[in-house]
Amino acid sequence: MNKLNLIKCKKCGLDFNESDVEFHHIVPKCIGGVDLDGRVYLCHKHHNILYSLILRWIVDSVPENLIKPIKNKIKEKTEGYLNATTTTAKRRF
Ligand SMILES: [Zn+2]
Repeated sequence: MNKLNLIKCKKCGLDFNESDVEFHHIVPKCIGGVDLDGRVYLCHKHHNILYSLILRWIVDSVPENLIKPIKNKIKEKTEGYLNATTTTAKRRF
């Protein structure tokens, strides 16, 4: 691959192919972030680490009285997701 096509991870500084990096929104889109908030390229590893940290920061910012309803909603949604039959599973059986 042409070296000019490699993209540098903002965190580790290593060069990656386009398919091995994420265009990370500084404020994640799932909580209303927009392009104007800033975006950086991160390798998958550092994108996953930062996303985990962001989730932790969100949880730490939520008032104690709101944590329980959020936990219940996540439990319900996760169980629904895990119990839903996927296209792949249907093909396998
Ligand atoms: Zn990296």
